[in-house]
Amino acid sequence: MKRRLLDYLACPSCGASIRLRSVSEEDGIEIISGELECAACLKGFAVRGGVPRFADLALIGEGKQATAENFGWSWQEFSHEDEKYGDELLGWIAPVRPEFFPGKVVLEGGCGKGRHTHRIARWGARDIVAVDLSEAVDLAFAATRGIENAHVIQADIYHLPLRAVFDYAFSLGVLHHLPDPRAGFKSLVAKVKPGGDVSAWIYGAENNGWIVRCVNPVREYVTSRMNPRFLFHLSKFPAAIMYAVTKLFYGPLNRSSHGAAIARHLFYNDYLSFVSAFNWREQHSIVFDHLVAPTTFYIPRAEFESWWQEVGAEEVIIGWHNKNSWRGYGKLRGAS
Ligand SMILES: [Zn+2]
Repeated sequence: MKRRLLDYLACPSCGASIRLRSVSEEDGIEIISGELECAACLKGFAVRGGVPRFADLALIGEGKQATAENFGWSWQEFSHEDEKYGDELLGWIAPVRPEFFPGKVVLEGGCGKGRHTHRIARWGARDIVAVDLSEAVDLAFAATRGIENAHVIQADIYHLPLRAVFDYAFSLGVLHHLPDPRAGFKSLVAKVKPGGDVSAWIYGAENNGWIVRCVNPVREYVTSRMNPRFLFHLSKFPAAIMYAVTKLFYGPLNRSSHGAAIARHLFYNDYLSFVSAFNWREQHSIVFDHLVAPTTFYIPRAEFESWWQEVGAEEVIIGWHNKNSWRGYGKLRGAS
């Protein structure tokens, strides 16, 4: 962690500021190991492997712990980097553009291995604080090590150890894996200043009926209980089917003008034609993610809309992403 992260931290128990108690190892601008403490209640928090640890995985409840552990493993397995992800990120946070970020203080709820974190730091955010519950924070730290304006903390989204000073918060593909997605959304939004901006992307209930009916029970009762390493190999079978079908049919059909007219009627065409551009590793990672998570909600648009109403967001834009998930953006009311 960099010392300037202290400007954003607050005690998750009492809300007071956090200070450095001791530093035992440093590397350039990074504190690799040491201890933090609350200035008021003196509660201590470790800095280990360059990351402040605010979440005790043993204490957060079994469901969330299993999700964090399964995802922590998958993100360590799928550590690859690709420029395409910049466009993908913009697809999820639209209408927010790279020009939005210079000078902004940004909060990322659920950063995984930090592939968006360092990109937004590069786009000129004043600071980005990325939060994740899983051990994937170790990879996120490695991805942002030495980048002055990128910060990674391990914490529970329901108990964020942060001050309400952010200009923008976003969460992509994470809230639907929480036991209470709405509460996670509100907890994130609570750290944004009046007049600030928020983006979220979640799985939709609409057009996902086949996943809810067919894949969900398999995930819930079978695959999420498997050893993730075994599931990783097993999921290559359904991934191979998706890969063959998208590369041989959906991709070529959608690229030709004649074919596109036919493709429109195909099963799940918007999503599968989008996926057809992905390489094998990426497709495998999508299939694996759908099978590994112990908790996944598919959220109807009306419910997603009510989240934004409840936090008093204005200028809300909710839209399809690939016709199977919802992307939302809104602006919080300014200070009166
Ligand atoms: Zn405290």
